[in-house]
Amino acid sequence: MRVTAPQMGNLHLMLEDLFRRMGVDYVKPPPSSTRTLELGAKYGPEFACLPLKINIGNFIEALEAGADTLVMAGGHGPCRFGYYGIVEERILRDLGYDFRFMMLEPFSDGAWAFYKTFEALSPGLSIRKLWKILKVSFAKARAFDSLYKRALEIRAYEVNRGDTTRALKEAEAVMAAADTREEIEAAAAESMAVIEAVDQDPGRDVLKVGIVGEFYLLLEPFSNFGLEEMLGHKGVYLERSVWVTDWIAPHRKNIIFGYPHRLIEEKAAPYLDQNVGGEGRETVGTTVIFAERGFDGVIQLLPFGCMPENIATSILPRVQQDHDIPVLTLTFDEQTGRAGMVTRVEAFLDLLKARRGSRLQAV
Ligand code: SF4
Repeated sequence: MRVTAPQMGNLHLMLEDLFRRMGVDYVKPPPSSTRTLELGAKYGPEFACLPLKINIGNFIEALEAGADTLVMAGGHGPCRFGYYGIVEERILRDLGYDFRFMMLEPFSDGAWAFYKTFEALSPGLSIRKLWKILKVSFAKARAFDSLYKRALEIRAYEVNRGDTTRALKEAEAVMAAADTREEIEAAAAESMAVIEAVDQDPGRDVLKVGIVGEFYLLLEPFSNFGLEEMLGHKGVYLERSVWVTDWIAPHRKNIIFGYPHRLIEEKAAPYLDQNVGGEGRETVGTTVIFAERGFDGVIQLLPFGCMPENIATSILPRVQQDHDIPVLTLTFDEQTGRAGMVTRVEAFLDLLKARRGSRLQAV
C-alpha cells in the first residue's frame, strides 16, 4: 500500500513522520505547481473552491508518482469542506484512476471510526500503539509549527535577505531527524537556536500585520503566491491566526497562535455569534485580537466563492471602524495573477506606513 494525502504547507512533515512510525509507505505529492493547479482546474467543477482544485491536482500527481491509496480529511457543514473527499473521489474514478480512497473523519465525530481508518492503513495497529504514535508525532509537528511561527516574526528583521528562509530549511532538517521524545525535545531547542541565530537588526522600525482567513489559503504558500515570505522581505512582522497543529488538536487551545478558541469566539460575538463554517467566525475574532494588540493592519485571505469567509468579509468593515484597523481582503482563484496581488499589497503597506507616520506626528 502506497499512501498519499494532499499537499498543504508543512503538513507533509507531520505525515512523513506519522506514517513512518506506523510502517506505512507514504508518497509525498510533488510540491504544488502551475501544473497541479491546471490539472485541478481542468477536472474540478468550475465553481468549486480553489483548495479542492489544488487537491485534485495533488492526487493526480501523487497517483502518477505511484500512490495507490488516497487519504482525505472529512468534515461536516455548514461549508463545502465535508464534500471535498466525495467529489474528489468521483472525479478521479471518472478519469479512470484505480485507487483505494479513505476519509479520515474528525476525532470529535467518533474515536472508533477515527481509529479504524488508521488500522485500515496499518493492519494490526492497536489503539494503544496508535495513541502513543500520535502523541509523539504530534509533539514533533508542533515543534515544526513553532519554527515556522518564529520565522515569520524574525524575517522582518533579517540583515541579509533570505537568511531566515535558509535557516528554516536547516532547522527543519534538524527536527526531521528526531525520533524519540527526548530527541524531539533536544531538536526543538537546537532548531530554534538555528532560527534565532539569523543576523537581525532589532532596531528596525517594522510594520506589524496579522494574517487571517481561510485555513488552506493561510497554510499553503503556493495558493497565496508566497505572500508571507514576500511580506517578510519587505520588512513586515507577521503573525498568522491558523496553524496546522492548532487546527487538528481537539481541545482547540491554539497553543501555536496563543489564543484559545473560546476567546476568539468571545471577540467575534458582538459581530458574529454563530459558527458559519470554515474559519468565518475565527477571521472576525482574530481580527479583533490583532487590533487590540496594536497591529498596524490585517490581511484576510480567501478562496473565491468561500461562503464562510465571504460572511466575514461583509462584517469586517464594522470591525475596522470600531477598532480603527485597516483590513485588506485578497481573494484567490485559478485566474488570480501574482502581479495584481503584489500591487494591492504594496499599496496597503504604503497606507499603513502613512497612517503610522501621521499617528506619530499627532502625539
Ligand atoms: S472554508 Fe471556504 S474554501 Fe474552505 S471548503 Fe469551506 S467554502 Fe471552501
